[in-house]
Amino acid sequence: MDYSYLASNWTAVRERVAAACRDAGREPAEVAILPVSKTFGVEVVRAAAALGLHRFGENRVQEVREKAPQLADCGIEWVIIGPLQTNKAKDVARLAHEVQTLDRIEQAEALDRRLQGEGRALDVLVQVKTSPEESKHGIAPAGLSALLAGLRRFDTLRAQGLMTIATHTDDEVEVRRCFRQLRQLRDAMAAEGHALPRLSMGMSGDFALAIAEGATELRIGSAIFGARTAAAR
Ligand SMILES: *Cc1c(COP(=O)(O)O)cnc(C)c1O
Repeated sequence: MDYSYLASNWTAVRERVAAACRDAGREPAEVAILPVSKTFGVEVVRAAAALGLHRFGENRVQEVREKAPQLADCGIEWVIIGPLQTNKAKDVARLAHEVQTLDRIEQAEALDRRLQGEGRALDVLVQVKTSPEESKHGIAPAGLSALLAGLRRFDTLRAQGLMTIATHTDDEVEVRRCFRQLRQLRDAMAAEGHALPRLSMGMSGDFALAIAEGATELRIGSAIFGARTAAAR
Protein backbone atom coordinates (compact mmCIF):
# COMPACT_ATOMS: atom_id res chain seq x y z
CA MET A 1 0.00 0.00 0.00
CA ASP A 2 1.05 3.57 -0.67
CA TYR A 3 0.69 5.69 2.44
CA SER A 4 2.26 8.84 1.00
CA TYR A 5 -1.07 10.65 1.54
CA LEU A 6 -0.26 10.55 5.27
CA ALA A 7 2.80 12.74 4.80
CA SER A 8 0.89 15.30 2.74
CA ASN A 9 -2.09 15.28 5.12
CA TRP A 10 0.24 15.71 8.09
CA THR A 11 2.00 18.64 6.44
CA ALA A 12 -1.31 20.23 5.46
CA VAL A 13 -2.72 19.86 8.98
CA ARG A 14 0.36 21.41 10.53
CA GLU A 15 0.12 24.32 8.10
CA ARG A 16 -3.57 24.85 8.90
CA VAL A 17 -2.84 24.69 12.62
CA ALA A 18 0.01 27.19 12.23
CA ALA A 19 -2.27 29.53 10.27
CA ALA A 20 -4.98 29.29 12.94
CA CYS A 21 -2.33 30.04 15.59
CA ARG A 22 -1.23 33.14 13.69
CA ASP A 23 -4.85 34.30 13.40
CA ALA A 24 -5.24 33.83 17.15
CA GLY A 25 -1.95 35.56 17.97
CA ARG A 26 -0.47 32.34 19.35
CA GLU A 27 2.75 30.42 18.71
CA PRO A 28 2.32 27.09 16.87
CA ALA A 29 4.76 25.58 19.37
CA GLU A 30 2.13 26.09 22.10
CA VAL A 31 -0.35 23.80 20.34
CA ALA A 32 0.37 20.08 20.09
CA ILE A 33 -1.42 17.72 17.70
CA LEU A 34 -2.51 14.29 18.89
CA PRO A 35 -3.11 12.08 15.85
CA VAL A 36 -6.25 9.95 16.40
CA SER A 37 -5.71 6.55 14.80
CA LYS A 38 -8.94 4.85 15.89
CA THR A 39 -10.38 2.42 13.31
CA PHE A 40 -7.20 2.55 11.20
CA GLY A 41 -5.08 -0.58 10.94
CA VAL A 42 -1.59 -1.24 12.23
CA GLU A 43 0.04 -0.71 8.83
CA VAL A 44 -1.40 2.80 8.65
CA VAL A 45 -0.22 3.56 12.18
CA ARG A 46 3.20 2.13 11.36
CA ALA A 47 3.44 4.43 8.33
CA ALA A 48 2.43 7.40 10.50
CA ALA A 49 5.06 6.42 13.08
CA ALA A 50 7.63 6.44 10.28
CA LEU A 51 6.82 10.14 9.80
CA GLY A 52 7.98 10.73 13.36
CA LEU A 53 4.61 10.58 15.11
CA HIS A 54 4.81 8.65 18.35
CA ARG A 55 1.67 9.50 20.36
CA PHE A 56 -1.65 8.22 19.05
CA GLY A 57 -5.19 8.69 20.38
CA GLU A 58 -7.52 5.69 20.49
CA ASN A 59 -11.08 5.64 21.82
CA ARG A 60 -11.43 1.90 22.49
CA VAL A 61 -9.15 0.08 24.91
CA GLN A 62 -9.79 -3.16 23.04
CA GLU A 63 -8.32 -1.61 19.92
CA VAL A 64 -5.14 -0.62 21.77
CA ARG A 65 -4.90 -4.20 23.02
CA GLU A 66 -4.93 -5.39 19.44
CA LYS A 67 -2.61 -2.78 17.98
CA ALA A 68 -0.02 -2.30 20.72
CA PRO A 69 1.70 -5.71 20.53
CA GLN A 70 1.94 -5.50 16.73
CA LEU A 71 3.56 -2.07 16.95
CA ALA A 72 5.78 -2.76 19.95
CA ASP A 73 8.90 -1.88 17.92
CA CYS A 74 7.61 1.65 17.07
CA GLY A 75 7.94 3.21 20.53
CA ILE A 76 4.34 4.42 20.50
CA GLU A 77 2.62 6.09 23.44
CA TRP A 78 -1.10 5.29 23.43
CA VAL A 79 -3.52 7.93 24.64
CA ILE A 80 -7.05 6.87 25.61
CA ILE A 81 -9.64 9.40 24.42
CA GLY A 82 -12.80 7.27 24.67
CA PRO A 83 -15.12 6.34 27.53
CA LEU A 84 -13.25 4.66 30.37
CA GLN A 85 -14.89 1.52 31.70
CA THR A 86 -13.58 0.35 35.06
CA ASN A 87 -13.49 -3.26 33.82
CA LYS A 88 -10.81 -2.18 31.31
CA ALA A 89 -8.59 -0.61 33.97
CA LYS A 90 -6.12 -3.47 33.87
CA ASP A 91 -5.45 -3.05 30.14
CA VAL A 92 -5.27 0.72 30.47
CA ALA A 93 -2.76 0.42 33.32
CA ARG A 94 -0.66 -1.95 31.26
CA LEU A 95 -0.85 -0.33 27.82
CA ALA A 96 -1.75 3.34 28.00
CA HIS A 97 0.61 6.23 28.51
CA GLU A 98 -2.15 8.70 29.17
CA VAL A 99 -5.91 8.88 29.68
CA GLN A 100 -7.84 12.01 28.65
CA THR A 101 -11.30 10.84 29.64
CA LEU A 102 -11.29 10.40 33.41
CA ASP A 103 -14.60 11.70 34.73
CA ARG A 104 -15.47 9.63 37.82
CA ILE A 105 -13.55 8.84 40.99
CA GLU A 106 -14.38 5.12 40.58
CA GLN A 107 -12.26 5.07 37.43
CA ALA A 108 -9.38 6.60 39.37
CA GLU A 109 -9.72 3.96 42.09
CA ALA A 110 -9.74 1.12 39.56
CA LEU A 111 -6.79 2.56 37.64
CA ASP A 112 -4.77 3.24 40.78
CA ARG A 113 -5.16 -0.34 41.97
CA ARG A 114 -3.99 -1.72 38.63
CA LEU A 115 -1.21 0.85 38.25
CA GLN A 116 0.14 -0.03 41.69
CA GLY A 117 0.28 -3.61 40.49
CA GLU A 118 2.12 -2.63 37.32
CA GLY A 119 4.44 -0.22 39.13
CA ARG A 120 3.41 2.50 36.69
CA ALA A 121 1.87 5.96 36.69
CA LEU A 122 -0.37 7.63 34.11
CA ASP A 123 -0.78 11.15 32.85
CA VAL A 124 -4.43 12.09 33.18
CA LEU A 125 -6.75 14.72 31.76
CA VAL A 126 -10.22 15.10 33.23
CA GLN A 127 -13.00 15.15 30.66
CA VAL A 128 -15.57 17.87 31.25
CA LYS A 129 -19.05 17.87 29.74
CA THR A 130 -19.38 21.32 28.21
CA SER A 131 -22.03 20.29 25.69
CA PRO A 132 -25.70 19.73 26.52
CA GLU A 133 -25.84 16.63 24.27
CA GLU A 134 -26.90 13.41 26.05
CA SER A 135 -24.28 11.43 24.14
CA LYS A 136 -21.33 13.37 25.50
CA HIS A 137 -19.38 12.07 28.48
CA GLY A 138 -17.51 14.08 31.09
CA ILE A 139 -17.99 15.45 34.56
CA ALA A 140 -20.42 18.34 34.95
CA PRO A 141 -18.53 21.60 35.53
CA ALA A 142 -20.03 21.89 39.01
CA GLY A 143 -18.42 18.58 40.05
CA LEU A 144 -14.94 19.27 38.74
CA SER A 145 -13.42 20.81 41.85
CA ALA A 146 -14.44 17.86 44.05
CA LEU A 147 -13.17 15.31 41.51
CA LEU A 148 -9.79 17.04 41.29
CA ALA A 149 -9.54 17.13 45.08
CA GLY A 150 -10.33 13.41 45.15
CA LEU A 151 -7.65 12.63 42.57
CA ARG A 152 -4.96 14.08 44.78
CA ARG A 153 -4.75 10.96 46.89
CA PHE A 154 -3.62 8.80 43.96
CA ASP A 155 0.06 9.26 43.30
CA THR A 156 -0.20 6.92 40.28
CA LEU A 157 -2.37 9.51 38.49
CA ARG A 158 -0.79 12.79 37.40
CA ALA A 159 -3.61 15.23 36.61
CA GLN A 160 -2.31 17.58 33.95
CA GLY A 161 -5.28 19.24 32.37
CA LEU A 162 -8.81 19.14 31.04
CA MET A 163 -10.38 17.69 27.93
CA THR A 164 -13.70 18.33 26.23
CA ILE A 165 -15.65 17.52 23.07
CA ALA A 166 -17.68 20.46 21.80
CA THR A 167 -21.30 20.22 20.74
CA HIS A 168 -21.62 18.61 17.31
CA THR A 169 -23.08 21.53 15.37
CA ASP A 170 -22.31 24.01 12.61
CA ASP A 171 -23.05 26.82 15.06
CA GLU A 172 -19.62 28.29 15.72
CA VAL A 173 -20.90 30.35 18.62
CA GLU A 174 -21.98 27.21 20.45
CA VAL A 175 -18.76 25.32 19.65
CA ARG A 176 -16.68 28.23 20.89
CA ARG A 177 -18.76 28.47 24.03
CA CYS A 178 -17.79 24.88 24.89
CA PHE A 179 -14.09 25.56 24.38
CA ARG A 180 -14.23 28.85 26.27
CA GLN A 181 -15.96 27.14 29.17
CA LEU A 182 -13.12 24.63 29.43
CA ARG A 183 -10.51 27.39 29.50
CA GLN A 184 -12.46 29.34 32.12
CA LEU A 185 -12.76 26.19 34.24
CA ARG A 186 -9.03 25.66 33.96
CA ASP A 187 -8.46 29.21 35.21
CA ALA A 188 -10.99 28.79 38.04
CA MET A 189 -9.33 25.54 39.12
CA ALA A 190 -5.91 27.20 39.06
CA ALA A 191 -7.25 29.79 41.48
CA GLU A 192 -8.22 26.88 43.78
CA GLY A 193 -4.71 25.46 43.62
CA HIS A 194 -5.23 22.83 40.91
CA ALA A 195 -2.60 23.51 38.26
CA LEU A 196 -3.93 22.03 35.01
CA PRO A 197 -1.96 23.62 32.20
CA ARG A 198 -3.11 21.34 29.38
CA LEU A 199 -6.36 21.86 27.46
CA SER A 200 -7.20 19.06 25.01
CA MET A 201 -9.92 20.43 22.76
CA GLY A 202 -10.58 20.69 19.04
CA MET A 203 -10.85 18.00 16.35
CA SER A 204 -10.56 18.00 12.55
CA GLY A 205 -13.71 20.07 12.07
CA ASP A 206 -13.36 22.64 14.82
CA PHE A 207 -9.70 23.03 15.76
CA ALA A 208 -9.36 26.66 14.67
CA LEU A 209 -12.02 27.67 17.20
CA ALA A 210 -10.29 25.61 19.89
CA ILE A 211 -6.98 27.32 19.16
CA ALA A 212 -8.67 30.70 19.44
CA GLU A 213 -9.97 29.68 22.88
CA GLY A 214 -6.64 28.45 24.20
CA ALA A 215 -6.28 24.77 23.27
CA THR A 216 -2.85 23.35 24.02
CA GLU A 217 -3.60 20.07 22.26
CA LEU A 218 -5.81 19.16 19.30
CA ARG A 219 -7.07 15.62 18.72
CA ILE A 220 -7.01 15.17 14.95
CA GLY A 221 -8.20 12.02 13.21
CA SER A 222 -9.79 12.31 9.78
CA ALA A 223 -7.76 15.31 8.59
CA ILE A 224 -4.64 13.12 8.92
CA PHE A 225 -5.87 9.58 8.29
CA GLY A 226 -8.86 10.18 6.03
CA ALA A 227 -12.56 9.53 6.53
CA ARG A 228 -13.71 6.76 8.85
CA THR A 229 -16.74 4.63 8.01
CA ALA A 230 -19.92 6.03 9.54
CA ALA A 231 -20.28 3.06 11.89
CA ALA A 232 -16.89 3.74 13.43
CA ARG A 233 -17.46 7.33 14.43
C1 LIG B 1 -12.49 10.40 16.91
C2 LIG B 1 -12.15 11.43 17.92
C3 LIG B 1 -11.42 12.57 17.57
C4 LIG B 1 -10.94 12.88 16.17
O1 LIG B 1 -12.02 13.23 15.37
P1 LIG B 1 -11.78 13.80 13.87
O2 LIG B 1 -13.01 14.56 13.61
O3 LIG B 1 -11.61 12.62 13.00
O4 LIG B 1 -10.57 14.65 13.92
C5 LIG B 1 -11.13 13.48 18.57
N1 LIG B 1 -11.52 13.28 19.85
C6 LIG B 1 -12.22 12.19 20.22
C7 LIG B 1 -12.61 12.03 21.64
C8 LIG B 1 -12.55 11.22 19.28
O5 LIG B 1 -13.26 10.14 19.65
